[in-house]
Amino acid sequence: MSNEIPYIEGAGTADFAEVVIPLALPLNYTWSLPAHLKDAVAVGCRVEVNLGKSKKYAGVVKKIHQTPPEFFEAKEVVNVLDAEPVVFEEQLKLWEWMARYYMCTEGEVMAAALPAHFKLSSETILVFNEEAGDDFTDLDNEAFLVAEALLLRKELQLAEVQQILDSNHVYPVVNRLIQSRICYVWESLKERYRPKTETYVALHPDYNNDKALEQLLNSDARLQRAEKQLELLLGYLHFQRTEGEITKQGLLKKTGASEAQLKGLADKGILLLEKRSVDRIRLLPKDIQLNFELSAAQATALDSIREALREKEVCLLHGVTSSGKTEIYIHLIEEQLRKGKQVLYMLPEIALTSQTIRRLQRHFGGHIGVYHSRFSQNERVEIWNKVKDGSLKIVLGARSSLFLPFRELGLIVCDEEHDTSYKQMEPAPRYHARDAAIYFSSLFSGCKVVLGSATPSFESYSNALNEKYGLVTLTERFGNIQLPQIALTDTRKYRKKEYADTIIFPPLAEAVQQVLEQKKQVILFQNRRGYTPYQRCNTCGWVPQCKYCDVSLNYHKFYNKLVCHYCGTSYPPMVTCPSCGGHDFVQKQFGTERVEEALQELFPQARVARMDIDAVRGKHAHDQLIQAFEQQKLDILVGTQMVVKGLDFEHVALVGIVDADGILSFADFRVNERAFQLMEQVSGRAGRKHGAGRVLVQTTQPEHPVLLQVQQHNYRALFDDELMKREQFGYPPYTRLIRLTFKNKIRDVVRDAAAWFSSALQNRYASYLVGPSEPLINKVRNQHLMELLLKLPRNSRLIEQCKKDILHQVAVLHQEKRYKSVVVLPDVDVL
Ligand code: ADP
Ligand code: ZN
Ligand code: ZN
Repeated sequence: MSNEIPYIEGAGTADFAEVVIPLALPLNYTWSLPAHLKDAVAVGCRVEVNLGKSKKYAGVVKKIHQTPPEFFEAKEVVNVLDAEPVVFEEQLKLWEWMARYYMCTEGEVMAAALPAHFKLSSETILVFNEEAGDDFTDLDNEAFLVAEALLLRKELQLAEVQQILDSNHVYPVVNRLIQSRICYVWESLKERYRPKTETYVALHPDYNNDKALEQLLNSDARLQRAEKQLELLLGYLHFQRTEGEITKQGLLKKTGASEAQLKGLADKGILLLEKRSVDRIRLLPKDIQLNFELSAAQATALDSIREALREKEVCLLHGVTSSGKTEIYIHLIEEQLRKGKQVLYMLPEIALTSQTIRRLQRHFGGHIGVYHSRFSQNERVEIWNKVKDGSLKIVLGARSSLFLPFRELGLIVCDEEHDTSYKQMEPAPRYHARDAAIYFSSLFSGCKVVLGSATPSFESYSNALNEKYGLVTLTERFGNIQLPQIALTDTRKYRKKEYADTIIFPPLAEAVQQVLEQKKQVILFQNRRGYTPYQRCNTCGWVPQCKYCDVSLNYHKFYNKLVCHYCGTSYPPMVTCPSCGGHDFVQKQFGTERVEEALQELFPQARVARMDIDAVRGKHAHDQLIQAFEQQKLDILVGTQMVVKGLDFEHVALVGIVDADGILSFADFRVNERAFQLMEQVSGRAGRKHGAGRVLVQTTQPEHPVLLQVQQHNYRALFDDELMKREQFGYPPYTRLIRLTFKNKIRDVVRDAAAWFSSALQNRYASYLVGPSEPLINKVRNQHLMELLLKLPRNSRLIEQCKKDILHQVAVLHQEKRYKSVVVLPDVDVL
């Protein structure tokens, strides 16, 4: 982040390189370029540099210039690792913007952006790829030496490679080994990826034309006496036509043929057996099929989006669940494809299921690539390179796909834009992929952004109402299906002793029973977030709130106090309810496991499965559950947030929200926005295809305004109500929030540091400061935590200044001996 120094065209004149290395350095450092490397290096290439006495890194060249560093003598770049850049100027600009906006370093952004294979440092561990075999005869001498050592030892640290080779050659050799897949880089923090592979059957390309195929079937000598093999081949051709692709297992099962018969055809070179990872993008033909008609409403919406994007950079598509937003995106994507442009289609991680992938592949075949944090490094690098050379046009991915080296981006779709998983919480960069995408698109001429949601975030919706974004609304579901009927069950009726342990009350139980009899399916939703302890009036459902912050109070059992975890104010526990005068306060908490148990007691015959983080570790488990449910191998799915994301189940006739009170009492100023989003999305799962579905909500507060708004699917009423409160209490979209989290081993130190910091900011920012306060979870991995919140007015100069002041104060804080080890983590646009 040094001053602007113009990039000087033509290598050979430049002498210095500003390099981003994957560390949290406040500034980028500069290295000098020795004469023999000058021609080889370009902006965006990786270079090997030394830092300090013993550390080595592969960094990315951000600028080439002729200004020597002021305070030290620049060391020389050791090697250039890439013949052509791994990123373009646009990526470097995105890194710089993110670092500045989200108050982190470009090195941290780089570490998040690049696949592990591009990141080398002295600590890197290389792991031998067992599939590489042991024939290294194609390698040059140096690579051969390292490959032999890897074969023997299986793992090597880069420092050890250094001992094997002359130290000036280490990184280029390692780079070549990675490229030839002899080894891969081990990322110690991530779980190791074990690709699930399956064998697919394909016809040898020689027989891909009708004439050759006919000859094969009718007069090929090799099949004359092999009747069973011919039968199997015909079976294969049949399934290939009807299903597109078939696995070995599937083919054998469907044709009843034996392994030996299949092997016979493979040995003759007629069929090919190809082992490949299930996630891997299939080599589908690159054609485009838009074999569906938009409904009148969809067509109008599509036109309006085009119209809006003529003037504006961003358009928000507010379409009720099942209105066919995806179909509209498909048209917009196709348009870009015809222009030769690339498209990024972002989805929340969890909605990135094989269901969505298959659906898009049906239209865009081999044009689509999927970028997923759970893919292997090799696959990620493969996508990376195909995006970079422009051969891959559409990328479907979660938030990190924003970092891919697009060269001609024409459109970014951010589906389910309200979803909080677009925000990275940990570690830095704590960025919001939707917001960063809007910045990123501005770097490409003509590139536009479409945000889609049935329940837009208030930030986006108010931008749309203020005409910063275009706004297009779709109010009907596709195929004239009604929005689901939502009924409330007032659980206060069941306060008698016999219901003390009841979770599923009679109306919901009866509804489930009916649906099971009709052989339809049920989804029951239970929110994990309801887990935090709070007090609730058992008579009227009232929940105590903080006077200053408009959030529910949390109950601390240990101190027997109610505490606001925003501002730290504490209150005595409730005895008398100010709303109804009752004296009966309760805490009720249960998770999905308990719901699953209750269901099994009530409906022992039903096939019940649970979908939450614990139940579906790993992506495949999640996909498998979804498939099983889709294929009606399950009757009831119990789940958390996970069940609500963009899934399209045909046979769900009933959705039950088990404990709406837990959702409505969460201690967060966005609670009503979130509650509405959740319930609207959950109920959107009901009756998407065959007639309207039912939704049953269990609550002690049937008159709660949000429940009425959900019942009427009235997003606008919710928005208007909430916005008044947001303004009154100074929350987004009226302000921007920056939260500082302080961490230290010693509780007193961290408390004092937070207080010190708060008083240091008093001067200029007193009226915007909230806290310091202890967060609900106040100790993580032996580190005590404190938080300080800033609610800044939306004045970009003030915000810029404040960010600078914060960073400055962090530096001052660290000069105090006692606070040296206090970690301060800024989070901009807290969710
Ligand atoms: P949303 O994303 O708005 O919730 P979807 O795009 O998932 O809605 O559409 C809901 C269902 O309706 C999907 O099964 C989809 O295939 C179907 N659908 C929507 N529009 C059309 C269309 N124009 N032609 C055929 N099917 C459609
Ligand atoms: Zn009450
Ligand atoms: Zn408060």
